[in-house]
Amino acid sequence: MFSYRHAFHAGNHADVLKHTVLIATLQYLLQKEAALTVLDTHAGAGLYRLDGDYASKSGEAADGILRLAQESELAPVLQAYLAMVRSFNQGTQLRNYPGSPFIIQSLLRVQERDKLKVFELHPTDMRALTGNIAQLQAGRQVAVLHEDGFEGVKKFLPPPSRRALLLCDPSYELKSDYAKVLDMVADSLKRFATGTYAVWYPIIPRPEAHDLPRRLKTMATKAGKSWLNAELTVKSNKTSERGGLPASGMFLINPPYNLKEQLKPAMPQMVQLLGQDENAAFTLESGG
Ligand code: SAM
Repeated sequence: MFSYRHAFHAGNHADVLKHTVLIATLQYLLQKEAALTVLDTHAGAGLYRLDGDYASKSGEAADGILRLAQESELAPVLQAYLAMVRSFNQGTQLRNYPGSPFIIQSLLRVQERDKLKVFELHPTDMRALTGNIAQLQAGRQVAVLHEDGFEGVKKFLPPPSRRALLLCDPSYELKSDYAKVLDMVADSLKRFATGTYAVWYPIIPRPEAHDLPRRLKTMATKAGKSWLNAELTVKSNKTSERGGLPASGMFLINPPYNLKEQLKPAMPQMVQLLGQDENAAFTLESGG
């Protein structure tokens, strides 16, 4: 079984990028009245403790969300992200960190009948996720599936409301995950060409990781779809032997038209606040 536990990484720089983009994307999609279906292919536990054993051991949140929390003048999308995390905490100290299922659910609308389907394979995280989601008392709005997310999404596309956001956030513990992401996005685009697809990926010295955004770009371009790619580097990958991910990216197909503009002031601020050495940098590209 996999050894990856997101609890060690909750609130790190990769979560800051991923969840900031996720919130901005959802806020845009939720401006329309028609129901939205959100598919979260790799859910994790849903809610994490920043003062618990896992997070304290890794210390990753200290170099992520906790750095942001000390800044008073944040770009609007970062403000929205920090406000989201604060909404799961009482007082000023951040002890709880919402994972993607909790972030998404908190934004969904009951009246419009928005739906969330989350997939998790690991038995421990699945147990935690089921318990955490039950506390939300969200009823039929949220379905938790103990299934392979790469395969499981197929049955939900196209969604009845013809509006969907798919977040794909694997741990990439298995080399085969890279190819599975590409196959899943290609298949999903065939099933539902107008959905918004958001893929998180690590930027590490590994050919499959390097190729992933390039291949997604080719796929989007060939399908005549717009795309956006945001990458955040916090340190040199040469120093990563000391541990910790140096960089990551979010690739979106059919992104909100205003997402790039919204990320423009936020990306340099992420570099400034989360950068760990002189290699800290960002890229923000779009096309289609
Ligand atoms: N999306 C979460 C968030 O932003 O809070 C974090 C997800 S974590 C990076 C990846 C999760 O995927 C892990 O909890 C892992 O157990 C789970 N996982 C791994 N392979 C899976 C698969 N094929 N289908 C569903 N879940 C899987």
